[in-house]
Amino acid sequence: MSPLAVADDRALGGSVRVIVTRPARLGAAKAAVDRCLRDIDLAASRFREDSELSRLNAAPETEVRVSALLARAIGEALRGARLTQGAVDPTVGEAVKLCGYDGDFASIAADGLPLDLLVRRVPGWQAVQFDPARHAVRVPRGVELDLGASAKALAADLSAAAAREAAGEGGVLISLGGDIAVAGEPPQGGWIIQVSEDSGAPIALGEETVAITAGGMATSSTTVRRWTRGGVVLHHIIDPATGLPASGPWRTATVVAATCVDANIASTAAIVMGERAAGWLEAAGLPARLVDRSGALHRTAGWPVPEASPSSLPANTQEPRSRLSS
Ligand code: ADP
Ligand code: MG
Repeated sequence: MSPLAVADDRALGGSVRVIVTRPARLGAAKAAVDRCLRDIDLAASRFREDSELSRLNAAPETEVRVSALLARAIGEALRGARLTQGAVDPTVGEAVKLCGYDGDFASIAADGLPLDLLVRRVPGWQAVQFDPARHAVRVPRGVELDLGASAKALAADLSAAAAREAAGEGGVLISLGGDIAVAGEPPQGGWIIQVSEDSGAPIALGEETVAITAGGMATSSTTVRRWTRGGVVLHHIIDPATGLPASGPWRTATVVAATCVDANIASTAAIVMGERAAGWLEAAGLPARLVDRSGALHRTAGWPVPEASPSSLPANTQEPRSRLSS
């Protein structure tokens, strides 16, 4: 197997891992990723007052012309909402904050006083006016956009493309806290990825792995970004129908798709959809690994059972049917 070179870092409130198949190209690839992540942070972070997103949220009822990058991120978020019938919805911003996730996750206390939680449907993505051709956005008063779910995945896709371009040869894998995108020529046998509920879990023998050769993979989980208020456990994936943390049967969903954005739309949606998720993933042709609250596994759309196929996904992971439509 050819040697891989790895650079680890932190950005966007989580871990960053850059892997290249041409070790001499690691520096160039990492520099391209750094530029990409800085740009996404400036455009779409809800934790920076000076981000474009924060300025957009602070200007309700006003048409704002945004950068091409923020327009892309908003476009992907709204596309995700449409494709999931609103299970993934960028207007969860206020609900996320009211549930206690109101700063960078590192600043959220693990335990705290009770919160007054309100069961209330989020405003809904249809309320956002967006003209992609003019990069023009208008957010109604009382709506706070949160691009947390899609912007990190988009950053992985854009970083992988930029890193491959900068490397000039070979293949690259970018992982942003477990949201993964690959580009270029994969290593022989594909990129072998350990599947875990926690992207911080150490790489260990005997853990389940899958191989991908293109596209992306994303994991959404209620088990890591969680906190307790007045004895009530809360987590960061909101059901737009209630404005409260999703309470369905799946605690973790990992999905492989044609892009990390698509994988992430589907993984977040799976947590929110709950009982309906497996059928929706099957119909979309998206291989997924779902973990229920007891730790039991359910696999969809050809996600390989480890005994049958220790480290490879069937070729269908790169077929067009794994691409969510536009
Ligand atoms: P992770 O950030 O661990 O990859 P996700 O991709 O599922 O997890 O994104 C969760 C983040 O997206 C939350 O932290 C929040 O900012 C935002 N969010 C929470 N619920 C939803 C939802 N239903 N639709 C869209 N975004 C959401
Ligand atoms: Mg994600």
